[in-house]
Parts: sequence; C-alpha cells; structure tokens
Amino acid sequence: MPLHIHTPLIESRPLSLSAGRPVWLKLEALQPCGSFKLRGVGHACEVHHAQGARHFVSSSGGNAGLAVAYAGRKLGVPVTVVVPETTTERAKELLRLEDATVVVHGSSWQEANERAQSLLGPGDAFIHPFDDPLLWAGHASMIDEVAAAGLKPDAVVLSVGGGGLLCGVVEGLQRNGWHDVPVLAVETDGAASLHAAMAAGHTVELPRIASVATSLGAKRVAEQALECTRQHPVHSHLVSDRDALEACERLLLDHRVLVEPACGAALALLQRPEVLAPYANVLVIVCGGATATVEQIRTWLEQTA
Ligand SMILES: *Cc1c(COP(=O)(O)O)cnc(C)c1O
Repeated sequence: MPLHIHTPLIESRPLSLSAGRPVWLKLEALQPCGSFKLRGVGHACEVHHAQGARHFVSSSGGNAGLAVAYAGRKLGVPVTVVVPETTTERAKELLRLEDATVVVHGSSWQEANERAQSLLGPGDAFIHPFDDPLLWAGHASMIDEVAAAGLKPDAVVLSVGGGGLLCGVVEGLQRNGWHDVPVLAVETDGAASLHAAMAAGHTVELPRIASVATSLGAKRVAEQALECTRQHPVHSHLVSDRDALEACERLLLDHRVLVEPACGAALALLQRPEVLAPYANVLVIVCGGATATVEQIRTWLEQTA
C-alpha cells in the first residue's frame, strides 16, 4: 500500500461553465497531509526505508516537510525538519502534529538547509522538496490515475515552484503515451523561476521571491524541469498574486476546498479564455497546500486590493 491516496477526479460544473469547456480537477488537496507532495515524498521515503534509512531529514517548512513528517510517522522512522525563523507558527504546529522534531535555524531557507545537511549522518536520508528522480516517479502516479479513469485531457494545468510537480506530470504523461498532451505551467509574477529559465535557455537564480505563493518560492528550478520543457510541449504562464488569491476564494466557494495561493495560481489560468481556447478538455492539478487559512487569504486579498 503506498502512503498516498487515490484522489478524486471531478468535472467542475461552475469552472466548466465559466471556462466554456469541460474542466476536470484532480483533487490532490485531499491527500492526508494536504498536498500532492505525499506522492513523491512518500515514494522516496519508502525507498530509503527499504534501504535501511533510520532517520529522515528535511529543510522544508512547507508541504514537502509535512509530507516527510507524515511518511516518517507512518513508516515508524523519526523525522527532523529544520526550518528558518520566518516559518509560521501554523506550519510548525502542523509538523509537530505529525510527530516531527522541528529545529528552527537561520533567517533564510539556505541557512536552515545548511544546518539540515550538517545533521546528516550514516543511516540518515535527506528528502529534497523537488529535485529528485524518486519524487518525480511518485508524482507521476497522479497521471496514471487519470488514465485509469478513462480521461485523456487536451491540456494539463499545474503550478511550478522548483519544478518537481512538472517533472512528475511530464513523466506520467510520457509513460502513458500522451506525448501530445501539453502542460500549461503556471507561476506567480514574483516567483517565476521556470519562466526565467525558459527565456534564458538555462536555469537562473532569481534575486528574490516576491509572492504570497510561498510554496512556489524556489529561486532556481531543477535542471530537469527545464529539460522537460525541451522534451515535452510545456507552455509557461504567469498570473498575479491577486489572481491566485481570487482563485482560492472561488474554489472554496465552488467546491468547499481550501488551497494555498500556490495552487490558486494554476486555477487562475481558468479565467483566461484566450489561453484555453485550443483545448477541448482541461485537467487542472489541484495541488493543494496545508498552510493556508481563510483569514490569511482574506488579509492578503485586502492588501492586494
Ligand atoms: C510544492 C508545491 C508546489 C510546487 O511544486 P514544485 O514541485 O516545487 O514545482 C505547488 N503547490 C503546492 C501546494 C506545493 O506544496
């Protein structure tokens, strides 16, 4: 039994009507720890566990860290998550709920990550949030589920942070023979590291992240994410923070599911009829995110008004 669940695939009536074509939602927000991350992270943790790992280490205060904490608890392997001082109380509380040891270190993710690396001893496995073939293979299972349900979409819409989800979905499309199904890869304006890499022809380090979509805040995408854009039709799209936040509000109203702005970014593309025009059926990966609260989303909406 894998650690992730088989998620529902539903046709959204409200979003289909407004987009003028069938819109299908793969509800990864319903994974037990709140995001798709459990697919890849769960797979990586199972492989390391089978190879004898006795301790998992993560440096993500977000959904990747939560997935490691969940996987460790389920496998009976202790987990340490090193997070920077900027991590919210809510995120730390969620990690502790999963029995992870939370170490707060440094003012940035870089510093927390260095500390996490320094903790690694023999028998420890470091679980990267996006740059690992084990993660991509695990994420790819969501496309196997769509294929098994008998739906072949004409385009897949997803969000991009470090590009692990993109790599996994492209792997899933290719292993199901769907080489002709394009991916619409969405980032917010202030976290557009894939967009910058595609424009430059090589991965680029963004000077800073300026977006409420913190789960998209990788300054540089994985090399494999850029490689995917060469091996598969991938189109980059940008949305504003406000678009992403409004899409979160809308999903909550339409489907009673709360997601982070990182996921709202992908949903926001549904408001662009000119972008969707070539595609009869659209599949959106509702990647989820456990760190959002309704209050926080409303506060951000007021601030971007
Ligand atoms: C991690 C994450 C992303 C981005 O995934 P990458 O693999 O880093 O591209 C998007 N949305 C949510 C909710 C996430 O947790």
